[in-house]
Amino acid sequence: MTRLQKFGITIVSLLLAINLASSGLIAQTKSAEQRWRGIDINGMAATVKPCQDFYGYANGQWLEHTPIPADRSSWGSGAELYEKNLVVLHQILEDSAKDTKAPKGSVIRKVGDFYRAGMDEARIEAEGAAPLKKEFARIAAIKDATSLQDEIAHLHRLTISPVYGFFAYQDFKNSTRIIAQLYQAGLGLPDRDYYTNDDEKSKEIRKQYVEHVAKMFELLGDNPAQAANEANTSMALETRLAKASMTQVEQRDPNAVYHKMSLADLNALTPGYSWDRYFASIGIAEPGDINVAQPEFFKEAGRMMTTVPLNDWQTYLRWQLINATAGKLSSPFVNEDFHFNGTILGGAKELRPRWKRVLQATDSDLGEALGQLYVAKTFGGAAKAQAQTMVANLKAALCDRLSTLDWISEDTRKHALRKLDAIVVKVGYPDKWRDYSGLAVDGGSYVQNDLQASEFEFERNLKKIGKPIDRTEWGITTPTVDAYYNPNFNEIVFPAGILQPPFFDPKADDAINYGAIGSIIGHELTHGFDDQGRQFDADGNLKNWWTADDEKNYNIRAALIDKQYSDYVPIESLHINGKLTMGENIADLGGLKIAYLALQKALDGKPRPEKIGGFTPEQRFFLAFAQSWRRNTRPEMARQLIVTDPHSPARFRVLGPISNMPEFLKAFGCEGDNSMARPEALRVKIW
Ligand SMILES: [Zn+2]
Repeated sequence: MTRLQKFGITIVSLLLAINLASSGLIAQTKSAEQRWRGIDINGMAATVKPCQDFYGYANGQWLEHTPIPADRSSWGSGAELYEKNLVVLHQILEDSAKDTKAPKGSVIRKVGDFYRAGMDEARIEAEGAAPLKKEFARIAAIKDATSLQDEIAHLHRLTISPVYGFFAYQDFKNSTRIIAQLYQAGLGLPDRDYYTNDDEKSKEIRKQYVEHVAKMFELLGDNPAQAANEANTSMALETRLAKASMTQVEQRDPNAVYHKMSLADLNALTPGYSWDRYFASIGIAEPGDINVAQPEFFKEAGRMMTTVPLNDWQTYLRWQLINATAGKLSSPFVNEDFHFNGTILGGAKELRPRWKRVLQATDSDLGEALGQLYVAKTFGGAAKAQAQTMVANLKAALCDRLSTLDWISEDTRKHALRKLDAIVVKVGYPDKWRDYSGLAVDGGSYVQNDLQASEFEFERNLKKIGKPIDRTEWGITTPTVDAYYNPNFNEIVFPAGILQPPFFDPKADDAINYGAIGSIIGHELTHGFDDQGRQFDADGNLKNWWTADDEKNYNIRAALIDKQYSDYVPIESLHINGKLTMGENIADLGGLKIAYLALQKALDGKPRPEKIGGFTPEQRFFLAFAQSWRRNTRPEMARQLIVTDPHSPARFRVLGPISNMPEFLKAFGCEGDNSMARPEALRVKIW
């Protein structure tokens, strides 16, 4: 999860990082390589009828015969590509680590030093939690409300977020200004619902969580009875914070998380908590306007600050610190952390090898340094140009669609077209790389290097307040297998990581590329017009440009898609949350529709392409789309994602959109035997 996602809305990515999924394009003989590229014939299931279960038809054999690797919670197209990227990145890191003659301060040197410290197992094992001694001593030294507050500010600078979080980000209603933003945080479980749901499974996870927290205290040297007490104390505190927290669905309304106020207003909101002191401690003399995303949460946190005993806070802060750093300490900490977060919550059986974990940390701490080295090795100008052309074609298709839609008025249409025209497109990698010259990678220990990098990032973000916004910035790193739309910048972003097979293959035919990357590009474009994105204008401001009638019409259509997905039951008795996933579902449907239109435009006026493997271009389009979403997920992870993921499970990201599309029914001749298609009256048509 990126920091942006942590505080409610903002960027909407295609996938969650943990779900990085991808596919295989197999069935290739040398002579038929071009012809067959993009469809894995062997992965399909001939016994399933496309009109009854297209996901099963396109992926049945693959789903049945592809095990999830022991160290993963899910496996599919994105994960395969992600693992392929890891091989390239691994080599870069090994080479950089060996290059001890690289000039001090150079990107190679920083990346190499960081990676080497992470791979220094002997040192990491010998040190245990010792590198954090100074940090724990600070917590132990808390003696009053003021020093408690100072410690919270200090941990925030290390990008650990006890109680609440701080982030400098655009003012939703004035996208040219960066302001201070405060948001709810401070939990150790994946979402506030984990603390409040009262089904048996949730109760069991809470029990296992408290045991896990106690184990961590024991590893820090506390005796079992004391550790158990401390775990209960932390849990009680987190539960109180959770109960005061807004749900994910509530936070999807951008107006509900927009409460701009002055420092004086903020101080009045939480009597007893000095925000002047907090801002001074994190390093801002004059914060100016502050957006408090969830004021009710802050009121409760403020009350807790003045009533919860200091000792309890100290216990909670120790837990927050160890929880954030355990993965970078010696194996007892790493294993306990994995046992709970990897196995209990995610179903993974085995810890990932060290190099993969350190690689991920390097990507997170020095992402744009690593990205530069990655691009130099992998991403060519031709791929960039071809991807840009596809984006232009998708934009043109959406423009046609917006120009002809019958359910919006001319006034709304004008605004929508203006917004589409203004969407900025970023492809491949940033024009300007982030400057790491201020970051020293010399902490000695792996965990210290990580905390230094975190503080550097905090400082970089903080300094944006009051400065002009930097439109060249990227929200995810270059090797990432993902894409996003950012409503505040009104931009769509496709890093080099995802611009590879099976999502994008310069050698495959148009039908394949429009079905795979085309539907992804369409998805991101549609985010500008989903139930959240549509509330932002061409300049990235939260500003209503809809007529009352059009808005009413939109909401009727959105309610239909809510109902469609809420009826799906992907695991046991758990339904998809149609309100949580609404934006993504709208983007999935719109994206596929626009990609289909773009393919038709691309085919228009040319001789009709022949069938490949017996499939028409339209059939190949839908097959490539469905195969790009093939994925097996462990039940533990599936349960977690139902609560936390704004995307629907992969199967429904395919079945949901196509069951609304007559184009699909026509492509596969679904007449009579079309149990997958939704009845005409319930079909969703938005973009
Ligand atoms: Zn999305």
